[in-house]
Amino acid sequence: MLQGKTALVTGSTSGIGLGLAQALAAQGANIVMNGFGEVDAALAQVRALGVQVSYHGADMSKPAEIEDMVRHAQATFGGVDVLVNNAGIQHVARIENFPPERWDAVIAINLSSAFHASRMVLPGMRERNWGRIVNVASVHGLVASAEKSAYVAAKHGLVGLTKVTALENATTGVTCNAICPGWVLTPLVQKQVDAKAAALGISNEQAKRQLLAEKEPSLQFTTPEELGALAVFLCSKAADNVRGVAWNMDGGWAAQ
Ligand code: NAD
Repeated sequence: MLQGKTALVTGSTSGIGLGLAQALAAQGANIVMNGFGEVDAALAQVRALGVQVSYHGADMSKPAEIEDMVRHAQATFGGVDVLVNNAGIQHVARIENFPPERWDAVIAINLSSAFHASRMVLPGMRERNWGRIVNVASVHGLVASAEKSAYVAAKHGLVGLTKVTALENATTGVTCNAICPGWVLTPLVQKQVDAKAAALGISNEQAKRQLLAEKEPSLQFTTPEELGALAVFLCSKAADNVRGVAWNMDGGWAAQ
């Protein structure tokens, strides 16, 4: 479905981003990957799907590096047809204890980076009259939890940015939508499981069950594969007129 197209997926060396990169590669898209950590292993997993893969190590908190990453994608593959704004971090603390520099980092990486990458790819998408921007927000783009002020503010902001991006391009072949996962068992959430296990003196498995029971009625984690299928749908012809939605895949979390 996406043969000949290029997808840039930020934060794709781990977790959800890696799952989305794999799902888009399985549809034939060439992939530009980004992120830190186990870069070589992540690249190999996507290359194994038989598409061309390139990597740029931009720090998504730095606008100049984001610009350089998009220029790299354009120079390597001729343009960016699908942009997945996925890179994100978390910090958990009450507002009065929240380090201001962590606030700035969460807003920069989880929200402002999507603005910078979008403003860089939109002219090319509009010129070709086809494009897909998929913003990985969160159920925290729709509802709040205590001790996640920066994250909730950034994700609500990202849902707002999604709607504006959709509206500004509504008469073109360029769409923008958000995906809003509930709990997904990635390294980002494993840290929260570990913190809960340590704080309560319970096992890893008990901490996982408690985390789910607090918020997610299905008592099941959403998987990167399920989110990948949703992203593929949003990139499909059938989704030509899906514009500005924030689609939660959250086991019923936001329905409560
Ligand atoms: P993760 O920690 O597994 O992956 C995060 C990715 O972002 C990694 O590739 C990491 O290297 C990259 N990254 C972090 N900081 C970066 C920076 N400054 N510059 C470039 N790359 C950077 O986390 P995940 O759970 O896969 O999260 C991916 C996205 O999904 C995030 O936006 C997160 O908010 C969102 N999300 C996650 C969950 C969940 O339950 N895991 C739920 C809802 C939304």
